[in-house]
Amino acid sequence: MEKEKYLVVNAGSSSLKFSLYEMPAQEELVNVYVEKIGSKDCFWTLKMNGEKIKKNAPLKDHSEAVEKMMQELIDNKLIENINEIKGVGHRVLHGGEFYAESVKIDDEVLSNIESIIDLGPLHLPPAINVIKYMQTIMSKDVPQVAVFDTAFHQSMPKESYIYPVPYEWYEKYGVRKYGFHGTSYRYITKTMEEKLNKKTVNLIICHIGSGASIAAVKDSKCFNTTMGLTPLAGLMMGTRSGDIDPSILEYICKKTNMTIKEATNILNKESGLKGISGENDFRDVEELMSKGDEKATLAFEMIKNSIVKFISQYYIELDGEVDGIVFTAGAGENDIDLRREVVKKLKPLGIILDEEANDNIAKFRTQKSGLITTPESKVPAYVEPTDEESVILMDTYTIAKNN
Ligand code: ADP
Repeated sequence: MEKEKYLVVNAGSSSLKFSLYEMPAQEELVNVYVEKIGSKDCFWTLKMNGEKIKKNAPLKDHSEAVEKMMQELIDNKLIENINEIKGVGHRVLHGGEFYAESVKIDDEVLSNIESIIDLGPLHLPPAINVIKYMQTIMSKDVPQVAVFDTAFHQSMPKESYIYPVPYEWYEKYGVRKYGFHGTSYRYITKTMEEKLNKKTVNLIICHIGSGASIAAVKDSKCFNTTMGLTPLAGLMMGTRSGDIDPSILEYICKKTNMTIKEATNILNKESGLKGISGENDFRDVEELMSKGDEKATLAFEMIKNSIVKFISQYYIELDGEVDGIVFTAGAGENDIDLRREVVKKLKPLGIILDEEANDNIAKFRTQKSGLITTPESKVPAYVEPTDEESVILMDTYTIAKNN
């Protein structure tokens, strides 16, 4: 089969991840991570051939960053010219109710994404900027594909996604639960179907990274999830509060003279583990705990309880018919202590931890995936590394081939 090159692009509010692959081998040729776009301290890290190269220059916006990274591909002889790239996959945070799967981007798709900018005010503008810029520098025949974080969750039943607020808010303004991390959930669902050798699976997937959410998957489709209109809802996270009493906003704004925007920013960036313990990374919180720090212990207990609460809720919502609880993403894959404490707490559901198996699974241990419960456990629990990039790449490749 002919070798072809594909790009995967992930635009964050001030960052850009940019990976070039050779297909159909799915071989990553280079991976570039640009940070602090728009600041004079902007820098990027190129990873290729097992080497890491760091560079810096003040790139003023995302299109300038793309332009520079394209030049990097040429300078590093990864491509001779742009025409060698046969497709570009874009991670897009929000697809609203428009998209339940990935799509080839045309004018209509762009205008639909533009119409829901308010649902992702930090992430959608840079993604749109990158897509538009790519369209100007690449041939119209090269498909640009949008892969949405929300798409997997569009299968939720209404009772899972409607909020108990005036129904008009949903009809007029799109106020509903959308859910995020969908690309990760899709990857894990497919992987577990293969591993369990089942056509469809019922799972409770815990995506615990710096952002964290849980999804209940029924017959391989999303049935419920913890994040909401935005990624602020649900679990307590590294810096996000997760679910709180909504009246806190008005109360704290009155007390401190903050605006709603400022207070919401604190709920997103200064709350969660960080708000309680001062640290947002599970590793740092656990380090503090080992020194007897009370707030770190409190933060860990709170996050553990928040995970246990949703696993228990989804166990019931799935009528107890669960093929597996799966831990994934940074902490899910590597935080042995967190997994141990969560699974131990699930004992009333007949879920029994295999302590030794759990101790052996992490990227710095002997195994990276596998079972962490005993054979008697009523529901098995697994660790499985996620791979959102591969989903974006394969969707882009498939759409390009059927173009
Ligand atoms: P993101 O949500 O930014 O994509 P990841 O899924 O990579 O991030 O998760 C990053 C988080 O995972 C870190 O902030 C850290 O809290 C946690 N993490 C990563 N490695 C470990 C580890 N070895 N032990 C505990 N927590 C870890």
